[in-house]
Amino acid sequence: MDFSYSTEQELFRQSMREWVVKNLEPRAREIDNGEVGIPKEVISGLVDLGVFGMSIPEEYGGNAIPGEEPIYGMIAIQEIARGDLSMSTSVYTLLTAGWAYIVNRFGTRQLKEEVLPRVARGEIFVGASLTEPGGGSDLANIKTRATKSSGGYVVNGEKAYISGVKECERLGWPSGHCTLVSTDPDKGYRGQTYLFVPANSPGMSYSVYEDMGRMGLSTGGVVYRDVEVPEYCLLGEEGRGFYHLMQSFNLGRLLVVSACTGAIERGLEISAEYCKQRHTFGRPLIKNEAISFEMVNDWMQFDLLKLNVQRAAWMIAHESQNPGSISYTDINKTIATCKCLAPTLGHDVARHGMIYHGAFGYTKETPLEMMLRGIMSYEVGAEGGLNVMRGIIARDLWGDVASPFKSQGGHYG
Ligand SMILES: Cc1cc2nc3c(=O)[nH]c(=O)nc-3n(C[C@H](O)[C@H](O)[C@H](O)COP(=O)(O)OP(=O)(O)OC[C@H]3O[C@@H](n4cnc5c(N)ncnc54)[C@H](O)[C@@H]3O)c2cc1C
Repeated sequence: MDFSYSTEQELFRQSMREWVVKNLEPRAREIDNGEVGIPKEVISGLVDLGVFGMSIPEEYGGNAIPGEEPIYGMIAIQEIARGDLSMSTSVYTLLTAGWAYIVNRFGTRQLKEEVLPRVARGEIFVGASLTEPGGGSDLANIKTRATKSSGGYVVNGEKAYISGVKECERLGWPSGHCTLVSTDPDKGYRGQTYLFVPANSPGMSYSVYEDMGRMGLSTGGVVYRDVEVPEYCLLGEEGRGFYHLMQSFNLGRLLVVSACTGAIERGLEISAEYCKQRHTFGRPLIKNEAISFEMVNDWMQFDLLKLNVQRAAWMIAHESQNPGSISYTDINKTIATCKCLAPTLGHDVARHGMIYHGAFGYTKETPLEMMLRGIMSYEVGAEGGLNVMRGIIARDLWGDVASPFKSQGGHYG
């Protein structure tokens, strides 16, 4: 058993930290203003560090180390989230790198050749389009329909709360979303297919929502009216989309909780720094146990969480190199546990920190308020709501009898 990073992983972490402190942290507030998105200097810095190529094999222009993608992904996203507490940069990066990993896993050669080198160079955005106006938890019941045509598929329907719509519209093809559609509605989730739908395809229109946080990355709706998707954009097998998606979620959620742990770690540091230097009643705030013990409680939960996130990364990496060595239910449970606990702890750490800062905490002079707004995206639902995580754990601990998803097929997660 070994809990340490390899020399190369530790060196990568240190380079990320140095770059983030110098180049990202000073721009976080500007990113949260929502006007510039993620600045091009930030994207090109991350490209130079190899971050967008870390899930892409060399033959497609990336620098992935086979079997270590989840570990490098976790390290990179934690460090990025420390520097931009609004979560915009970490989420932009984790979506693009994470869903590129899925394109690499399930995509055709032609799709990979068109998409992956451009991801590695930071030129495009890749995301996932699953949620519909009728709901996101019950994906077995989506309504967006794709029918077979001579050249591929014709898609009709609507998606909602999709990250990266503005970025897709701006950057264009080969940006796009891994999109869950129904190709055989009579078969329910067994009739679903996973397609890479190119940005700005004729018949597609985007709308942008006004979110409360994570302002450097858009979310919005997508309407599909007779959108033609070429055959080579099929991900995996027709009719197996739901299963492919469930396999994709664990990596996506690992990166999401990595973003949360990075932000939590930095949030705790900011609070400790402030409480050491701020004096009331003749002594530092941190001398008051009402404050330091609450911070310790948060830190203890963070420390356990960070270890479990590391375990989750190791599990995905190890299983990818040794198929069947760890059961999916064990991986699901570990990741769902992290995804259920991390956003709530992040919310608490941000809120507690704002309170330690007094009135100052209610201003935009500290980054804690933008952390609170950013991290809440993962409490309300992004990458699966907290109760959905509890449902996955109940099902994988106690079997289908305990699954709240059973009536819809019982395979969520
Ligand atoms: C900022 C942001 C970005 C997002 N980006 C994307 C994206 O890029 N792509 C994408 O496809 N989606 C995205 N989403 C949508 C996200 O995946 C959904 O919010 C999530 O799946 C929940 O779906 P819903 O919001 O429709 O809530 P619903 O499914 O309507 O659920 C509402 C609430 O009820 C809870 N709930 C559901 N079922 C049960 C149950 N059986 N028992 C108890 N409680 C239950 C849920 O946890 C949730 O809290 C994003 C969301 C946000 C907030």
